[in-house]
Amino acid sequence: MAALNRLLKPSPSSSISLLFKRSFSTTAIVSDSQSHHHNNPNFAQPKPSRNFQWVFLGCPGVGKGTYASRLSNLLGVPHIATGDLVRHELSSSGPLSSQLAEIVNQGKLVSDEIIFNLLSKRIEAGESKGESGFILDGFPRTIRQAEILDQVTEIDLVVNLKLREDVIVEKCLGRRICSQCGKGFNVASINAKAENGRPGMSMAPLLPPQHCASKLITRADDTEQIVKERLRVYHEKSQPVEDFYKTQGKLMEFDLPGGIPESWPKLLEALNLDDFEVKRSAVA
Ligand code: AMP
Repeated sequence: MAALNRLLKPSPSSSISLLFKRSFSTTAIVSDSQSHHHNNPNFAQPKPSRNFQWVFLGCPGVGKGTYASRLSNLLGVPHIATGDLVRHELSSSGPLSSQLAEIVNQGKLVSDEIIFNLLSKRIEAGESKGESGFILDGFPRTIRQAEILDQVTEIDLVVNLKLREDVIVEKCLGRRICSQCGKGFNVASINAKAENGRPGMSMAPLLPPQHCASKLITRADDTEQIVKERLRVYHEKSQPVEDFYKTQGKLMEFDLPGGIPESWPKLLEALNLDDFEVKRSAVA
C-alpha cells in the first residue's frame, strides 16, 4: 500500500513509479499507414507524435483477447493482456508463482503492485525491441488502476465489449488454449434463445487446426463456479472503470452481435477501420 501511495504522489524515489513512467513514455512516430485510422469525431484521437494507446474493457470471456489481438495485428501495436502476464508468471515457478496461483484460481484480483510490476516489465521489454503504443486487455480493472494509468500516460480510446451473461459463461466453459503455440479456441456451439426482449444469439465453435487439437488445455479458472466469481468481481470492481472513461468521453460501447464472422466487420466499422483493412490487405 505504501508503494502505491508513493506512486500516486510523483516522487523521484519511487522505483515502481519511475519504472511505470519510463515504461509508458512512448516516442515512436506514427507511420503513414497508421495515421489513417478512425476519424469518428466522437473518439479521442491518438497524439500525432505517437502510436495508438487503447484499452479493451468487458467481462471475463467476452472476447477482449480475440478482438484486441486482431486489432493489434492490423494496427501494428502490441496487444498486452495482464492475464497472460499473470499466467506466465505463475507458470514460471518464480517466487510469486504459488501466491498468484491461489488468487487467480479463486477468481480474485491480484494486487495492484504485482500487476504494475508485471506490466512495467512487459512494456520495458517491448520498448527495447522497438515496440510503441499498446492495446491493453484486462487492465485497468479497478478505479485505482485507471487513475494511476491516467497519471502515467494518455489513453486515446476505450472499447467496452458487451455480451449476454449466459453466453459469456458458455463461452468461458468452451474456451481452450493450445499448450504449444498459445492460441485460443472455443469448442462451445452457442445457441442462446431470445428471451426477455433480448435477441437470440448463435456462435459457431472456433475449432483448432489438427496440429493444435491434441494439445488443448483448459484454464484452471474457467470452471462454472470460478467464472461466476470472476463475473461478480468484474461487476463490483471493474464496471466502475467503464463510467470512469465514459465521463472522459473515451468509452465506445460495442454490443457483440455474435461470433467473430459477424462481430469483426462490425467492430471495424464502429472504429472506422473497415476501409483500413481493405487497404492493408490490398498492399499485403
Ligand atoms: P484474465 O485473463 O484477464 O481473465 O486474467 C486472469 C486473472 O489474472 C484474473 O482473474 C486476475 O486474477 C489476474 N489479473 C489480470 N489482470 C489483472 C488486473 N489488471 N488486476 C488484478 N488482477 C488481474
